[in-house]
This record gives sequence, C-alpha cells and structure tokens, in this order.
Amino acid sequence: MEDRYLRQKECIDRLWGELKKYDHIYVAFDFDNTVFDFHNIGDTFPRMETLLRFLKRNEEFKLILFTCNGGDKLLECIEYCKNNGYEPDYVNENPVVNNAHYVVQKPYYSILLDDRAGLGEAYLTLLAALKGKIFTIEEEDKPLFEDQLLNY
Ligand SMILES: [Mg+2]
Repeated sequence: MEDRYLRQKECIDRLWGELKKYDHIYVAFDFDNTVFDFHNIGDTFPRMETLLRFLKRNEEFKLILFTCNGGDKLLECIEYCKNNGYEPDYVNENPVVNNAHYVVQKPYYSILLDDRAGLGEAYLTLLAALKGKIFTIEEEDKPLFEDQLLNY
C-alpha cells in the first residue's frame, strides 16, 4: 500500500495493534504551547487537557511527557500536569523500546501530541480511535468529546 500512514484508518488500526502488542497505547505529549501557554498570550487548551485527563483515567493508555524543559522547570511542568489531572506516567523516556545502542535516541510513542507535529491531525486520530470503543467517559467529558467528533 502506498503511503499507508497517510490514511487515518491505518493509523487507528495501528494504535489498537499497539495495545495488543504492548498492553498500552503510549501517548506522548509536548508541554509548551500544547498544554501550557508558553508565551503568556492568553491561550488555553481545554480540548487537549480534557483528552489527556480522559486518557489518564483509562488504563489502556500511558502518558509520556516529552519536553525540552529541564531542571526546576521540568519539575514545574510535571507538577502542572499532575495538578491538572494528567500526571505523566513517563517523562522524556522510552517505556518500550531500549534504543541505547542506536546512534540517535529517537523517542518511542504510539502517537505524539505536539503543537509542532500536526497536533490537530493527531488529536482527531485519537478521538476517532476512541469513537465506538468502550471506555470510562466521565459525564463532564461527554459534551466536549461529542462536540469535537461532530465538528471536525
Ligand atoms: Mg511545543
């Protein structure tokens, strides 16, 4: 098949394949301008934060925070995520693939949510993957999920 992963259905099928293979879907997310207003210009991230909280509540998913922030700033990022209900299960690490022997330490993830990496497409792919599956969706999350699925 040409350009297999330009097709959302193939991406979705692979996500569920990863769940079977690894017991989890590893969702990596960026911090600045993905869930946090780095430039302090009044941006908010209600859909991203709702999605991450939803994923955090369902054991099929593991959250990986991938950020360039380090030191005290990194600790602040982790605390921020924790305080907002999506504490990362991993931080800047590969939970599945040991790539220590590789030349480049490419991070591993099932899907990446990053403002510089097609965030809208990845977000919709995850939502589409979740559609029709049985998960624990809190009442407070339902309107947002339903709104997103209907309006894209
Ligand atoms: Mg960013």
